[in-house]
Amino acid sequence: MEPFRKLLEAIDEKEGLEDICGLAVKTSGKFVYNRSYELQTLDNYPQPARNLTAKHRMNYFHAHYKPVALMRFSYGCPYNCSFCVLWKLCKRKYISRKNELIVKELSELDNRNVYVVDDEAFINIEKMKDLADKIRENNINKKYHMYVRSDTVANNPALFEKWACIGLDSVMIGLESIFEDDLNQYNKSISSKAQD
Ligand code: SF4
Repeated sequence: MEPFRKLLEAIDEKEGLEDICGLAVKTSGKFVYNRSYELQTLDNYPQPARNLTAKHRMNYFHAHYKPVALMRFSYGCPYNCSFCVLWKLCKRKYISRKNELIVKELSELDNRNVYVVDDEAFINIEKMKDLADKIRENNINKKYHMYVRSDTVANNPALFEKWACIGLDSVMIGLESIFEDDLNQYNKSISSKAQD
C-alpha cells in the first residue's frame, strides 16, 4: 500500500517521516499521528510477484488448500459490527477491483486453490454476478474459499449457485448468535427471523 512504499522510500533516502499519511511516528518516546491515509482505488497496484514466494507456498497455513494462492477482490466493509476492528481501519469504505483486472490475475495464477482474503467479497451483488460470468467465459478453472455474511447467502441463493458452478468450494460465515437481542447489540444489521 501507498504509505508503506513511501515509508521505504523515505528510509532509503534518509528523509523525514512526518509528511507520510497513515503513519504513527515515535517522537520523544510518544507516538505522533500523521494525517490519516484514505485508500481510493485498488486498480493501480501491480500484481504480486508470486514467484518470490513460490518456495514457501506449501507452508501456508490453510489446511484444506495446499498449495494455495491468496488474492484480493475488494477492500473494506460498509457494516460496523461492534466486535469487529475492520470498519474502524477502513472507515466503512468498500472498494472493489475492476472485474477485468481480477480475471486477468486469476488467469495468470499457477495455483488452482485461491483463498480470497476479502472481508466480504459479495457486498456488490451485481458485480459478483458479472465476475462469475467473466470467469466462466474465460474458462478459468479454480477452487475458491471466501468470507461471506450469512444474510448475503440467505438473500442471494442463485448467486451462490452460480459461484458454486464456477468453483466456489467453501465459505467462512460468522454466526455470532441466534438471538435477536444479541444481534442488535452486536450491530450486525441482521435478523435471526426469516425474511419475506
Ligand atoms: S460484516 Fe464482517 S467484516 Fe464487516 S464489520 Fe461485520 S464482522 Fe466486520
